[in-house]
Amino acid sequence: MRYEGPIYRPPSEADSLLIQATVGCPHNRCTFCMVYKQTRFRIRPLAEIIEDLEEARRQFGDRVRTLFFPAGNTIAMPTRDLAALCRHARELFPRLQRLTVYGSSQYILRHGREGLQELAAAGLSRIHAGFESGDDEVLARVKKGATAAQHLQAGEWLREAGIELSAYLILVLAGPAGSRRHALASARVINAARPAFVRLRTLVPKINTPLLEEVLSGRFRLCGPHEILLEARTLIGALEVPTQVVSDHYTNYLDLHGRLPDDRKRLLQEIDAALARPEDTFRPFFIGTQ
Ligand code: SF4
Repeated sequence: MRYEGPIYRPPSEADSLLIQATVGCPHNRCTFCMVYKQTRFRIRPLAEIIEDLEEARRQFGDRVRTLFFPAGNTIAMPTRDLAALCRHARELFPRLQRLTVYGSSQYILRHGREGLQELAAAGLSRIHAGFESGDDEVLARVKKGATAAQHLQAGEWLREAGIELSAYLILVLAGPAGSRRHALASARVINAARPAFVRLRTLVPKINTPLLEEVLSGRFRLCGPHEILLEARTLIGALEVPTQVVSDHYTNYLDLHGRLPDDRKRLLQEIDAALARPEDTFRPFFIGTQ
């Protein structure tokens, strides 16, 4: 198997076979993201990706249960090519239980309703989508390239197609002043998009990003642990759809894991217990160090 540029995968794909289908990210403008800034986006030739899949079949045989196609927005591949790839993967690995890509809402929507149904029929089963926020002002400020309405429509079309949506939100992406609005707007989008998973990340300004410059110049104030936990509390309190909330990431102050609505009370109690701790007992800020 050949790999080029940064290879990122969600923690939930830790046991997955990784076969690179694209290099970089076609959007590459989010102000908080440094992953692919030095990498030019391209789609690998289908024949090359298939060679890598076949090599993986020779190496791992029938042991592969889950497969993830990096990189940043593999959903940006043309529908026909991505569908062909999924079909080939399903033929090579008949015991595959999950086939996943990263995909931002604007690229999900480019496939149209029918295209997403074609991808589902070909075996694509889950998309990890960085919603980040449901607040249009925040989305525009961080240059996400998608609106809340697009997130919502992407969720609706994926649900119709039968592709599982794993939606990511970044806590305190609006800073302290916009925290409550960001939380409630994000809850509204999640309630409408109805993802199977809501995955929480906490904003950590990364090295070489425009957002880090905003922090260092004083144009953006970061939130402390209690403000972050309060935002998580507001968000979880406002989620009305059955979904799994997971904070499976090192950036978070608290490991929240539960199914809504059943686990809401426990999750809120866990947050309240954390809020009772002094702020200096949480991890220190790591700003621009990674
Ligand atoms: S769409 Fe995703 S990978 Fe691309 S720049 Fe934004 S956060 Fe980074």
